[in-house]
Amino acid sequence: MSRILMIGAGGVATVAAFKMAQNTDVFSELMIASHHKEKCDRLVKAIHDKGYTLPMKTAEVDADDVEQLKTLFRSYLPDLVVNLALPYQDLTIMEACLACGCSYLDTANYEPKDEAHFEYSWQWAYKEKFEQAGLTAILGCGFDPGVSGIYTAYAAKHYFDEIHQLDIVDCNAGNHHKAFATNFNPEINIREITQKGLYYKDGQWIETEPLAVHRDITYPNIGPRDSYLMHHEELESLVKNYPTIKQARFWMTFGKQYLNYLDVIQQIGMARIDAISYEAPLTDDPTKTAKVNIVPLQFLKAVLPNPQDLGENYDGETSIGCRIRGVKDGKERTYYVYNNCKHQDAYQETGMQGVSYTTGVPAMIGAMMFVQGIWKRPGVWNVEEFDPDPFMEQLNIHGLPWNEEFDIDLEV
Ligand code: NDP
Repeated sequence: MSRILMIGAGGVATVAAFKMAQNTDVFSELMIASHHKEKCDRLVKAIHDKGYTLPMKTAEVDADDVEQLKTLFRSYLPDLVVNLALPYQDLTIMEACLACGCSYLDTANYEPKDEAHFEYSWQWAYKEKFEQAGLTAILGCGFDPGVSGIYTAYAAKHYFDEIHQLDIVDCNAGNHHKAFATNFNPEINIREITQKGLYYKDGQWIETEPLAVHRDITYPNIGPRDSYLMHHEELESLVKNYPTIKQARFWMTFGKQYLNYLDVIQQIGMARIDAISYEAPLTDDPTKTAKVNIVPLQFLKAVLPNPQDLGENYDGETSIGCRIRGVKDGKERTYYVYNNCKHQDAYQETGMQGVSYTTGVPAMIGAMMFVQGIWKRPGVWNVEEFDPDPFMEQLNIHGLPWNEEFDIDLEV
């Protein structure tokens, strides 16, 4: 028996729910709770329409409100709460988990709504409380963060005595045939990409201007793609958990058109996250207006394509992996471990595109690791702090098979 309560009914949650429904030997009941219950109901229907029989319930909850969460958790009594809402809700959901005796898993670290700033300190601060309550919190269990940390842990366990250099390389070589769209929540995505770059070198964090450092990196089955150095949250935990690392960087590909649009969005103020006052027509009488506060980036999200609707016409594939340099038995060696995922394969299976798929599958496997007792340890943990082997095995079974190459030119 394992009861999972999933919060969120977006692209990532859709994939995770499909994957749980495919594994009824592990998951016996699922509740999907989100802002809008009808979205959860549609998801349950889509899963049932594909013939899956996992018992599922739905509920409406505002995950910013700890009291609402507590009422929900006490009524359902889940073993694990899988947070696939937005990074803003991480702390309220962790609070409610502690109050109700539930363990916790997420795919993105906490970010305050009014400050585009992500770091683990807020969530790591809960370590002692989770330990004392005998509850497990698994942080960052998507692809990156998530599989990127598990790949690193696997490399450290099997192939290196010391890791010296880590480059996480994330390529989306897909085409959704829209002029501009983001692959996951537009608000979170644009906040992330417009941040300053940050990488780790010789014990220091070095800041760069946003997307200022880039180079061609060659991806398997794809070829060379312009890849931009960005800050990414898993670097923070990986350099802490692997102190032999001298340099850690994260690279992501962007097309020229995407960057042009992004530039315009910023230049015209649509990436702003502060509230502005706007004279809006009244719902009852559009001839009259009233002052309302709107956040430009949240308004932009409302008019951009929904990442959940991109799958049907998405072709091409993603390729995400870790390129590692280090030493084994006194000799320098290099290692590359990666997964390629085709958007159309993801769409045919779950109705979602590859970016939601590569995040939702690891979230399901993380939940599986927890309910099977393999990744169950009181405290707050990043994924690389658990045994990577059983997780790596499941990646091959559930749609994200990995490949490895040894002693190659890492390019980066
Ligand atoms: P979506 O925007 O598609 O889905 C978010 C869901 O959360 C929606 O169902 C939304 O409901 C719900 N939600 C938002 N706010 C609240 C709230 N206050 N209370 C209850 N429900 C709420 O996002 P994605 O599925 O694309 O992303 C989900 C998470 O995965 C994000 O945290 C994202 O950062 C992370 N992610 C991680 C990746 C990784 O590799 N680690 C990669 C990609 C994403 P509604 O729409 O009804 O408002």
